Amino acid sequence: MSREATLIPGDGIGPEITQATREVLAALGVAFDWDVQVAGMTAVERAGTPLPNATLDSLRRTRLALKGPLTTPVGNGYRSVNVALRQAFDLYANVRPARTIVPGGRYSGVDLVIIRENTEGLYVGLDHAFKVGDDPKAVVQAFSVMTREGCRRICRFAFEYARRHGRKQVTVVHKANILKATSGLFLETGREVAQAYAGQVACDEKIVDNAAMQLVLDPTQFDVIVTTNLFGDILSDEAAGLVGGLGLAPAANIGVDAAIFEPVHGSAPDIAGRGVANPSAQLLAAALLLDHAGEPEAARRLERAVETAIVQDNVRTRDLGGGASTAEFARAVTRRL
Ligand code: NAD
Repeated sequence: MSREATLIPGDGIGPEITQATREVLAALGVAFDWDVQVAGMTAVERAGTPLPNATLDSLRRTRLALKGPLTTPVGNGYRSVNVALRQAFDLYANVRPARTIVPGGRYSGVDLVIIRENTEGLYVGLDHAFKVGDDPKAVVQAFSVMTREGCRRICRFAFEYARRHGRKQVTVVHKANILKATSGLFLETGREVAQAYAGQVACDEKIVDNAAMQLVLDPTQFDVIVTTNLFGDILSDEAAGLVGGLGLAPAANIGVDAAIFEPVHGSAPDIAGRGVANPSAQLLAAALLLDHAGEPEAARRLERAVETAIVQDNVRTRDLGGGASTAEFARAVTRRL
């Protein structure tokens, strides 16, 4: 039986890596009935809005999506569709695994997961400029809004994730020494939730600046990290860099009623349309989707096929120092499946 899911190929390299992913998933033998929808710049061009109602309706119905990267204008222009989707579907948990795949990099044996609160903090959109005299941006201000319930559910999610995935430790990353109310509430809640998992999952805590340095010194000391929105945004890109860059980093955005899976990287306009993008992050995002959809064996097969194509068969796209095209890499993964 095939399961219905929404597919948003996205902008820039999105359609290329999504096509490659569809071919690999077809070979994997897990049937999806993809409802293809647009968002981002492609949707502005076709439908006059970055997040059309048809896309929202599809997501409301399927509650499961694989999404390519979306271009977001910097400064002026429409607000991030990714942030809008997270808020519309209350996708409160952003899960980003960072695992060494390509040997010979700066670090080996990295296998950590960053769980970032995805809806609160500085991302609530209360970001204003005030005019003084004739300067429209003389004073600017942003509010960080966090709730006890928001802190509680992300901390519970992290400890529960650790327990279910056989992980040993959750590190609560905060800045409670300076942001005593907001980050203080997060730390207090993390400690409370940790008590319920005593004896099953260990809890550690680190101030964010130290956590950033410790990640660079020795990333293998981390297992699961749980943190607030902005810190998680920064640390998860840092972690992706420790294991070979954005081309290999997938992400899951999970809420109570829906889940959207995507590569961490953006739409890469510098290489779009040339057939050279690395589809691995999108393939690994599809593996996270399979896990979530109750197909863990297919997920592991897909992850292993990506890894073997890169490491043993040495089929690599340009970002990994090779010369394979997107389609050649997809064929190598399919052969391994
Ligand atoms: P980017 O991730 O698109 O690109 C950064 C660099 O990495 C570029 O040199 C690019 O060629 C390379 N790269 C990225 N993905 C690659 C892949 N799969 N294979 C090979 N090389 C790859 O970041 P950017 O240039 O800062 O952003 C471009 C656009 O993407 C912006 O509009 C940004 O807002 C958007 N963006 C979207 C998402 C998302 O939809 N989740 C995430 C990040 C950025």
